[in-house]
Amino acid sequence: MDFTGKTALVTGSGSGIGKTIALQLAARGADIVVNDVSQEHAKATVEEIENLGRSAVLCCANVASRTEVQEMFELAKEKFGKVDIVVNNAGVTRDNFLLKMTDQEWDLVMDVNLKGVFNCCRSAAALMSETGYGKIINISSASGQMGNIGQVNYAASKGGVISITKTLAKELARYNINVNAVAPGFIETPMTETVPDKVKDHLKRQIPLGRAGSPEDIAHAVLFLASDLSSYITGQVVASNGGMYM
Ligand code: NAP
Repeated sequence: MDFTGKTALVTGSGSGIGKTIALQLAARGADIVVNDVSQEHAKATVEEIENLGRSAVLCCANVASRTEVQEMFELAKEKFGKVDIVVNNAGVTRDNFLLKMTDQEWDLVMDVNLKGVFNCCRSAAALMSETGYGKIINISSASGQMGNIGQVNYAASKGGVISITKTLAKELARYNINVNAVAPGFIETPMTETVPDKVKDHLKRQIPLGRAGSPEDIAHAVLFLASDLSSYITGQVVASNGGMYM
């Protein structure tokens, strides 16, 4: 796959899956807008992209903020003139059982995981409709498809991401914008580092392919959806989960 001449914006690309997606797109020729709340992490991603010979611009916008997201897309337009690919990857967890979950835990997860995707899709669509080309890939989760104990906030937000994806696939098709989602299963990243070994072993036993996924496993699905090999695919959810949920 060749992304030469394309610009991609990847939210939450300071670490984990987002960083791998940004580097894989850059390795295939794309210039990248690196977004993360942590400047230190985002800077490291920018340096690695520049070492690959591509251009990168850093933007520490909080995706939950409409204003900061609008400014990020303005920066992208100023620097690269357009954005062809947007990967809505930034996400957080604040797990708790229903009866213990606080309003703050609910609100934060909704603000970042759901409103963040809405904010970025709105700004992306405005820009992409001008050029008549766009690929939006939203990172959902197996939790959003099958539910998960202790994740009522996270599962609801990720289920919502699937609904955003299907709705915008219908709304934005007229502008030649494809909107798809990738739903990862259990992936080894900083987000899952703190999961106790006992729980990790239990999870791995539920995966037919017998292993946790890697950030590369998710990036490969994203590359396909970001490329013109998937031109006739829109509104779909690609489950990259080792068979954990079918
Ligand atoms: P991660 O390593 O924690 O990466 C998430 C990134 O998003 C972090 O760099 C984080 O920054 C950034 N971020 C958090 N809040 C943000 C905000 N408001 N604005 C901009 N950036 C923000 O997690 P990951 O495992 O790579 O997860 C990436 C995506 O995959 C998430 O949407 C997650 O829900 C989804 N996912 C992951 C798994 C899994 O098993 N790992 C499974 C299913 C779905 P800081 O680190 O600086 O806070």
